[in-house]
Amino acid sequence: NFMNINSTVRNWEKDTTPYPEPFVEVIDESFKRYVLGNAGMERLYTGSRWTEGPAWFGDGRYLLFSDIPNNRILRWTEETEIVSEYRNPSNNANGNARDNLGRLITCEHLTRRVTRTEFDGSITIIADSFKNSKLNAPNDVAIHKDGAIWFTDPGYGILNNYEGDRSEPELPTAVYRIDPSSGAVAVKATGLVRPNGLCFSPDFTNLYVSDSGSNNPNAIYVYQVSNNGDSLAEGKIFTETGEDSTDGMRCDTDGNLWASAQRGTNSITIYNDSSVLIGRIYLPEVPSNLTFGGHKGNRLFITASRSIYSIYTDATGASLS
Ligand code: MG
Repeated sequence: NFMNINSTVRNWEKDTTPYPEPFVEVIDESFKRYVLGNAGMERLYTGSRWTEGPAWFGDGRYLLFSDIPNNRILRWTEETEIVSEYRNPSNNANGNARDNLGRLITCEHLTRRVTRTEFDGSITIIADSFKNSKLNAPNDVAIHKDGAIWFTDPGYGILNNYEGDRSEPELPTAVYRIDPSSGAVAVKATGLVRPNGLCFSPDFTNLYVSDSGSNNPNAIYVYQVSNNGDSLAEGKIFTETGEDSTDGMRCDTDGNLWASAQRGTNSITIYNDSSVLIGRIYLPEVPSNLTFGGHKGNRLFITASRSIYSIYTDATGASLS
């Protein structure tokens, strides 16, 4: 079963593990519909120090992802299955996403800012301060359908010199929103110790935010988004996650939440929109972030420690990247 396989060394270069994929665990019968009986876990790449921030570019058939300590953004190309450098130096980039025009939005630790890469390749700073104080180290980013860019600022990137520059925070940890019209940066949620991964429900009525800074309890929070999209109701626990700490998350089009789970299970843990745990996809390394991609949006890409893993599912990702 998955636990036995998980503890053995799998030959990723020449994998003959029998289907069905042993890393996939159906916990609730409702998860079965998303599991393909003849699709297996693949390791697409290894050779980084700590990967995060996967973003799928369907038009170019490639996946961008950050290798934070190595100060670079890498690109895995579907056609050739080759990984090359997209940006070096990346200012210890972490989270990546595409805005509603398809432009790359990036959180940078070193420069403590959020940037947009324009169509000509130039880089525009879209957030680097709040009320005249420097942001700590933006971590992850999600795009609302109205064009607003939401990001978390948990401060991990200034804790040490490995993923940025060690520095004292000037601001509390927070969830921010960049207004699509004015470009103004505003705090939308505080109170989480280290707000980390974030994603909207497919109908944009809820924002999920993980808090990886508190284990009392380990939890994923949910905030109702106002009708005009510019504010959040008070956050509530969506689910406690036991021994697991959550970083990146994504929703599928059915509203299920696919959440990275570190330290306890090392998995992608899937909850339905009523917080019921329905399935797990185990990883042989510690997962950080995930995204759906591929031509039909049904291919899961997972950044995990030194590597990129992928598995086809019968779910479809809800967001562009
Ligand atoms: Mg993160």
